[in-house]
This record gives sequence, structure tokens and C-alpha cells, in this order.
Amino acid sequence: MASVTYDHVYKRFGDVVAVNDLNVHIEDKEFLVFVGPSGCGKTTSLRLLAGLEEISEGNIMIGDRIVNDVPPKDRDIAMVFQSYALYPHMSVYDNMAFGLKLRKTPKSEIDRRVKEAAEILDIGHLLDRKPKQLSGGQRQRVAVGRAIVREPAVFLFDEPLSNLDAKLRVQTRAQLTRLHQRLATTFIYVTHDQVEAMTMASRIAVMKDGILQQIDTPQHLYDHPHNVFVAGFIGSPSMNFFDATLVETDGKLEVNTGGFRVEVPEEKAKEWRQFKGREVIFGIRPEDIHAKPFVPPGILESDIRATVDVTELMGNEIFLYMVTKDNKQFIARVDPRVQAHPGEELEMAINMSNAHIFDPK
Ligand code: ADP
Ligand code: MG
Repeated sequence: MASVTYDHVYKRFGDVVAVNDLNVHIEDKEFLVFVGPSGCGKTTSLRLLAGLEEISEGNIMIGDRIVNDVPPKDRDIAMVFQSYALYPHMSVYDNMAFGLKLRKTPKSEIDRRVKEAAEILDIGHLLDRKPKQLSGGQRQRVAVGRAIVREPAVFLFDEPLSNLDAKLRVQTRAQLTRLHQRLATTFIYVTHDQVEAMTMASRIAVMKDGILQQIDTPQHLYDHPHNVFVAGFIGSPSMNFFDATLVETDGKLEVNTGGFRVEVPEEKAKEWRQFKGREVIFGIRPEDIHAKPFVPPGILESDIRATVDVTELMGNEIFLYMVTKDNKQFIARVDPRVQAHPGEELEMAINMSNAHIFDPK
């Protein structure tokens, strides 16, 4: 069991700064997910912690021990790779036992740990098989099993679900959450998939271009993104963004996007008045734009009009692809009772409590 700390960590590959001044403290037993687009430095961050890459600058600590110069095998961590990296000629049992054999763990102890891991992962019936006789999901579990038998203080996962089909990915997500609860150990998990991050993480660290953008609980990240990148990355369909200016007329603050104007209720205006007269980005999530008259009671509502482009019926909700007067598109996720037809103009209510203003930069 251990906490992990990245303290002003840099990793440079020639001119590329793969990890740029990373500062993160991961608590013991946390499920921390690094998320971000391809190339943002997720794998490198994990490999630095595992000792598979050398740090250019800064310190990494496991517990209160600086591990910069500690060889990988002495770091008390286990990593599950995207590729699983199973030995094809070995049985499942031997794949799981291999690392322990190298460490000269007694045979009876190896046997106990392999069988216990197999039981946890429900692969006890597969121990005699070779990797090629397994499905993708089973291989993935063997790769996890190989990490479990090491009984590490920290588990590292690098996109372990990316080779599974969509349905299996959803099931395996829940299994990993359960596994984390059962093992009560620190999990550090890397993915480009924000849904994986949102569903499994106790906290999410969003990265872009080697730079940590924000680290927060899933809910806080969703409700209070610090910048446009985080706001657009977390949530599906993505938050709608509009270039806008904040104008004040007769003491009333308004967001003007060119295509529509929304009044800013006084509760919000207190927070937003600092942006008055400036160019901003106005952000609103699809579920916070309602088609009248199906507007939830009690919301801080401001109205706009827009034209329906495409409708998508999802059963329990409808996605409306809308266009504004100045031809900007946005998506609204509305009540299934809404009757909307392409070309029709709708009156819509924006829930201003959940609206955002960002600096364009
Ligand atoms: P991610 O896992 O988020 O997709 P990586 O950590 O693999 O991103 O890569 C971050 C950046 O570092 C990328 O620009 C990548 O090309 C670069 N990079 C990673 N590993 C190496 C390496 N061994 N040599 C040179 N550049 C690398
Ligand atoms: Mg990667």
C-alpha cells in the first residue's frame, strides 16, 4: 500500500516535452485516472513511475521514498500493458507465475497466489490454456492476474481495455472497479476514453500536451471545468461552445453570441461581471438546453430561439442538432415528448446555473 507523488516531473525526448512539470499527489488506495488525447504524455507518466523511463527533472516518490534511481523491480509496482504482453508458449498458470519464479518465490507460495488471483478474476478453469486459446477478454484478465500475484503496492494500467469490443469494455470496467475495492490498493490508470475515466476514477487527471490541465473528482470536473479543453473533453456529446461577448445594458448583463442573446440572471452575473465587455467563450452542455414547454421546474432559465437541423431519437431522450441565426451549430438533449421537425424554429430554455464562461486565449 502506498501513495505516489510526482514532484515537478519533466520528461524530454529531444525537443519533445512529453511530461511538462507534472505535480500530482495520489493517495494510498486511490483510483487515479490520467486521461487525455493520444500523445499527451499519459504512457510516459506511467513509465516514469514504473522506472521504464528515466526522469529528465524532478522527483517521483512512492510512499515517502524517492524512487528516481530505484530499479523497476524494486519499486513494488505492477503494470498491465495495453498489449497484455503474455508469453505465447506458456500456459496461463505459467504466465501468471513467471514473475514470482524469477524472484525465487517458494513454489507453494506461487501456487497459492496464482490460484487466489485466478479465483478473484474467475479464470481458474483456464489455467492450463495457452494465450492463443483465450478470448480477448480472458487474455486481459490473465494480464491483470499476472499483476495481482505480485501483490504490489501500486497497480499501473495503460489502456488495458482498448483491445476489447464495446460491450466487453463496459463489463470489464465494472470488474476493475470491483477489483479495486477488493484489493484496496492504489490504482493508476491511463486512458484516452473519458467515459472510462468518469466511471472508474476516484479522481481524474486531465492532460494535454504533457501538461496537467486539472485534477478533480469526476463530478467536480464535469461541473467545474477550469478551461475549454477540459470542458470539451469531459462529457458526451461535448459541451457546446460559442464565441461571445458579455455586454451590460441598463444594468442587465447579456451574453451575445451573434446568433442569440441570453440574459444572465443576477446570481450568475455576480460571478461573470468581471468579464464585462470582453470576448469570451460561452459553454453550455446539451442537457442544459431544454425545448419548451418541457423545462424542468426551478432552473435559472434564459431563453433563446434556434432552428432544428436533425433529430435523433434515443428512446428516453432526443438529441436535437440545432442551428442559430448566424449558422452556428449546437446540440440539445431534450425531453422525449418534444415534437421537433427539421426546419422548425424552437423556443429553448438554457439552464444558466450550469452555463460556463471561459477565457478564449
Ligand atoms: P500518450 O500515452 O498520452 O498517447 P505518450 O506518453 O506515449 O502519450 O507520448 C507523449 C509524447 O512523447 C508524444 O509526443 C510521443 O511521440 C513522445 N514520445 C513518447 N515516447 C517516446 C520515445 N521513446 N522517444 C521519442 N518520443 C517519445
Ligand atoms: Mg499511451
